[in-house]
Amino acid sequence: MDALCRNVLALRSLLPKDCKLMPALKANAYGHGALPVAKALQQMGIDSFCVACISEAAALRKNGIKGEILILGYTHPKQFPLLRLYRLTQTVVDYAYAETLNQYGKKLHVHIGIDTGMHRLGERHENLEQIRKIFNMKYLKIDGAFTHLCADDTENPKDRDFTLKQAEAFYDVMEKLKREGYVCPKIHLQATYGILNYPELAGNYARAGIALYGILSSDTDFDRSHTKLFPVLSLKARISSVRELHAQESAGYGLAFTAKRPTRLASLAIGYADGLPRGLSCGTGSVLIKGKRAPIVGRICMDQTLVDVTDIPEAAAGDIAVLIGKSGEDEITAYELAAKTGTITNEILSRIGERVVRV
Ligand SMILES: *Cc1c(COP(=O)(O)O)cnc(C)c1O
Repeated sequence: MDALCRNVLALRSLLPKDCKLMPALKANAYGHGALPVAKALQQMGIDSFCVACISEAAALRKNGIKGEILILGYTHPKQFPLLRLYRLTQTVVDYAYAETLNQYGKKLHVHIGIDTGMHRLGERHENLEQIRKIFNMKYLKIDGAFTHLCADDTENPKDRDFTLKQAEAFYDVMEKLKREGYVCPKIHLQATYGILNYPELAGNYARAGIALYGILSSDTDFDRSHTKLFPVLSLKARISSVRELHAQESAGYGLAFTAKRPTRLASLAIGYADGLPRGLSCGTGSVLIKGKRAPIVGRICMDQTLVDVTDIPEAAAGDIAVLIGKSGEDEITAYELAAKTGTITNEILSRIGERVVRV
């Protein structure tokens, strides 16, 4: 929680005073636990949040989270009553969807998505007439509009050029509508890399996700600001049992591990259902026990994982193994897990399983 607060302060310091953080709490706050994270942020004075879908938004509201909660994705018309019940803000994902929202016939709070090049969601920025029509829809209360930058994490001139074009297209539309008298209280376009690499593009909100959790998507990503971030999460499991294997005995599914020497094997109470990637099996990954590395051996199971603790003779049942985080002088980062499994930290963190207790 302390790390989370420090990350909030670090990101705020990059932004102008009138740009507020709108933390991304989607996917259980990138695996960290949406509710405890939201509560901590609320205590820091943050009062606007974004999530991916209505179930995430409703869960936050039901548990006492106040302020604005923006749903970044699609909500099915059957669930429109919940938008009003929980006072949620819905993204207009395109012009056709604006019509669907308006046909509901009761006032709905929305932010209009503007597509400036990612081509995922949002009405195309070129379609000014459609966007104008959305503003004129009787039942839509336009609280904001936003776009999403999709190539802002490199130093590459082509990406830089593209990002600046996205921002220009977005601000052009908003400027034109403003001159015509349309009122759009909040506009926003930055996520993590927009804040770090393009602080000058700040709007009214910055939708901070991964950086808030103290890490970038990849340690090779560009961060112009050189911001020091503090990882919020450690992932730990208990050793449930330790046993001796004779040389040449095998272990685990498919007998994928064979002991080359008399071996002490520890079982950990964590598996791929908890988000430990199965790709870390058979020596690819390791864990920290009492500050020392123990290689993962054999195939990671759904609920359990075997590690070789022959060189950690003091390891015993009940001890803590660190999957992500520090132990003694050593540390395993989410970067390491992501690199070894061919993905980004966002995926490693957001897939930490539901049954893992968030302490
Ligand atoms: C996930 C998401 C964010 C947060 O992205 P980060 O790169 O993790 O900061 C912001 N905006 C939208 C639309 C998103 O989908």
